[in-house]
Amino acid sequence: MKKAIILDLDNTIYPVSSIADHLFNELFNFLDLHIAGEGVEHINNAKEDLKRIPYQKVADKYQFSDLVKSKGLELLNNIEYNRPMQPFDDYKHIREAKITRFLVTTGFTKLQWSKVKMLNIEADFEAIHIVDPELSPLTKKDIFASILEKHNYKPEDVLVIGDDPESEIKAASELGIDTFLYDPENKHPNALVTYRSQNLKDAVAIIA
Ligand SMILES: [Mg+2]
Repeated sequence: MKKAIILDLDNTIYPVSSIADHLFNELFNFLDLHIAGEGVEHINNAKEDLKRIPYQKVADKYQFSDLVKSKGLELLNNIEYNRPMQPFDDYKHIREAKITRFLVTTGFTKLQWSKVKMLNIEADFEAIHIVDPELSPLTKKDIFASILEKHNYKPEDVLVIGDDPESEIKAASELGIDTFLYDPENKHPNALVTYRSQNLKDAVAIIA
C-alpha cells in the first residue's frame, strides 16, 4: 500500500506529440531565421532533437552561437501553450484513485504551468513542482527527497510514475522509491524498474 504517488507530466499524463507542432512552431521559425546558413539537414536534425532533448543540450550539440542560444532561451522562457489539451485516456484512473498525488516536471516554468492549466489537472495534486534548470540547480531527485521529508513519507510509502528511465525513474531508484514505468509503446524494454505497464490503470492496483 502506498501513501502517495509522484507523477511526471510530459508523456506520462499527456502525449507531447499532440502539442509538438504548435508548440515548436515559434522556436522552429526562429531557428530557420538564425541558423539557416548551416544547411537544411543540420537544421532538421536539430529540430528533431528539440522534440525530446532540452534546448540547452541541443544548442550545445549543434553549436548555436551564444547570441542564438540566449535568444532562443529567452523565447522558451516566455512561451506558453494556450490551446486545448487532453490527458491520456487512462489518466482518469489515476485521477480517480483515492491517494495523495504530487506532480514533478522538468521544463520552463511558464510553459509547464500553461500545460497544467490547459489539461485542467491542477486540482488533482497536493503540490506541483516545476524543476526549471534556468531558475534553480535543484533536480527531480532533490524534489522527491524534499517531498518525503516534508510529509514524513518513507521511500516505500511512495510510487513514482513516469515515462523516462533516465529522469524520474532514475531519481526515484536512487532514493529507494518504487518506480512505475509508463511505456505505452514499449520503448524501454530493458529499463530497470519496479513495475512497468502500457496502461496507467495498472498503477492503481499497486497503490491500493
Ligand atoms: Mg516525461
